[in-house]
Amino acid sequence: MKRIAILGSTGSIGTQALDVIASHPETFAVETLCAGSNADLLIQQAIQFKPNAVVIGDESKYEYVKEALWNHDIKVYAGSEALEQIVESGEIDLVLTALVGAAGLKPTLRAIEAGKTIALANKETLVVAGDLVTRLAKEKAVNIYPVDSEHSAIFQCLAGEWNNTIEKIILTASGGPFRGKKKEELSEVTKAQALKHPNWSMGAKITIDSASLMNKGLEVIEAKWLFGLKPEQIEVIVHPQSIIHSIVQFEDGSMKAQMGLPDMKLPIQYAMAYPDRLSSDFPRFDFTKYPQLTFEAPDLDTFRCLGLAFEALKMGGNMPCVLNAANEVAVARFLKDEIKFLQIADVVENAMQNATFIAQPTLEDYLHSDQLAREIAQ
Ligand code: NDP
Repeated sequence: MKRIAILGSTGSIGTQALDVIASHPETFAVETLCAGSNADLLIQQAIQFKPNAVVIGDESKYEYVKEALWNHDIKVYAGSEALEQIVESGEIDLVLTALVGAAGLKPTLRAIEAGKTIALANKETLVVAGDLVTRLAKEKAVNIYPVDSEHSAIFQCLAGEWNNTIEKIILTASGGPFRGKKKEELSEVTKAQALKHPNWSMGAKITIDSASLMNKGLEVIEAKWLFGLKPEQIEVIVHPQSIIHSIVQFEDGSMKAQMGLPDMKLPIQYAMAYPDRLSSDFPRFDFTKYPQLTFEAPDLDTFRCLGLAFEALKMGGNMPCVLNAANEVAVARFLKDEIKFLQIADVVENAMQNATFIAQPTLEDYLHSDQLAREIAQ
C-alpha cells in the first residue's frame, strides 16, 4: 500500500489522481490532501478519502474547513508554511506535486529533503530550479517520476534502456487551439478561444501555456533536468492528434515512441504505481479511427514563447526562472483580459532582457530572481 500526499488535490491533475486512487484502493491510500482555496471540494475529498491531514492554502478558510471536518478525525492545517511542512510527515511514501506555478518549488524541495518519492506534475519546479532539485534528489537518493504525458512517454520508452545512450528526444505538441494561425490572426484572440484546447482538458494556466506553446518550452526545460540532456538533444514536433506522446532516439538510430489516447490518468497512474503497470478501464486507442497521424515543424515566428524557452535553456543559470515568473504574470494578466495574447511573449522577452543574469544561482538567488522578474513583468 502506497500512502500518497497530493499537493493540489482540487485541480485537474489532483482530481484525476484521486480517480486513479479510487480505482485501486488495494494499492493506494490518501495520507494528505492540499488545496489552494477550493474549501468545499477539499472537504468533500477529505470525507471520501479519509486522509490523516488536509491543508488549505488560503488561511481565511481554515475555520470553515476545520468545522466541516470536526468529527472526521482528520487534522486540518492552513497556509503555505503548513503545506511545506506536511510533506515531511513520516507516513507519506509518495508526494504528487500538482500545484500550479513556482509555488510548487519549496514544498517539493522539502519533500525531497525528507526522502519522499516524487511524482512530478508541477513542471515549473524543474523550470525554476532544475539544478538544485535534481542535485538534492541525487544526494537524497530520491526518485522523481514524471507525470507530464510527454515526459512519462520518454520515461516509459527508457524502461530497460537505462544504460543505453540517448541521441535525442522528440517532444510532441498538439499545437493547441491556434495551430496553423499566423501572428496577424492572433492579435485579437480572446481568453475563451485560448482556453479551448482541442485534445486535453486541463487547468487554466497550462491551457493558456499550451495555446502560446510556452507549455512546450517549459517541457523542454523540464526534460533537460529529468533526463540529463543537452539543449541540442531536445526537439519539438507538432502532432495535432496527441496520440504519440513523445519519442526517444537512441545512438543506433532506433526510435521508440509511446502511444495512447490523450488521458492524463494514464501517466498519473504510471508515476504513482511505478515500476508496476496497473489494470485500467481507460478508453483504448483504435488505429482504424485514426487513419492519419500527422507531424509538422512548430512555427517559432508566430509562437515566440517556444523560442524564448529554448533561449533561456541555452543561457541556463537563473534565466529559465525569469522566463517562468514573467510568463506566470503575463498569463494571469491575460486571464484577466488586461493584456492581449501576443503580448505574453513580449512580457517574457522584456523580463529576460532586463533581469540580471546569474550563472550559478543559489536557492535565495532563484527566489529573488523570481520576485524581480515578476516586478519587471508587471
Ligand atoms: P489546476 O489549476 O487545475 O490546479 C492547481 C491546484 O493547485 C489546485 O488544487 C489549486 O487549489 C492548487 N493551488 C494553486 N496554488 C496553490 C497554492 N499557492 N497553495 C496551495 N494550493 C495551490 O492546475 P493543473 O492540475 O492543470 O496543473 C497542475 C500542474 O500540473 C501544473 O504545473 C501543470 O503545468 C501540470 N500539468 C498539468 C496537466 C493537466 O492535464 N492538467 C498536464 C501536465 C502537467 P484550488 O483550486 O483549491 O485553489
